Amino acid sequence: MQDYLELAEKNGITLIAKGSCQFCGANTQRGIHECLEIFALDLENMELHRKENQVYRFYLVDAHVLQHPEIHGRWSNHLHLARLHLIFNYKVNWYYHLTTQLSNCINKYKVGRQDEFLSPPDIHKRGKITSTDIVKAYSEKSDLMPLLKNWANEVYDAWEDSHKTVDGIATQFLNSGL
Ligand SMILES: [Zn+2]
Repeated sequence: MQDYLELAEKNGITLIAKGSCQFCGANTQRGIHECLEIFALDLENMELHRKENQVYRFYLVDAHVLQHPEIHGRWSNHLHLARLHLIFNYKVNWYYHLTTQLSNCINKYKVGRQDEFLSPPDIHKRGKITSTDIVKAYSEKSDLMPLLKNWANEVYDAWEDSHKTVDGIATQFLNSGL
């Protein structure tokens, strides 16, 4: 996350540090910078170390990245959307080690596709749930699990135009000996 300032600059994006988030529309005071604070939440009470709960960490990361693709590298969108596609469309139970396998598939997929970009949905149309909803639920000690799943689901749906593209990666992944 530390290099997001650099990536935004590389992508020609000026980050706005006031008001609502320029990318996801979250009701923040300090824009994108506040959206990123979600990664500092202590989610250990969700027992994320338990194998059956690991997927919630991925919901959070994928939803966040895909709501803010402008501050990430272009292939990062492929990775996070392909992961959600595998989870939601192919019902893959996701665990940490599978991400390495997916990265390997994307590294192969990249070859000869230097010009391929996924077009993000319009800003503020990337799912209604945002980081501020998660922070609020967290501070109210509400159950975050269903909220994180819905967040990821909404963002995944917002990227519908790219589902077909990442399906190519997902198929490679599924055929790679899961
Ligand atoms: Zn945001």
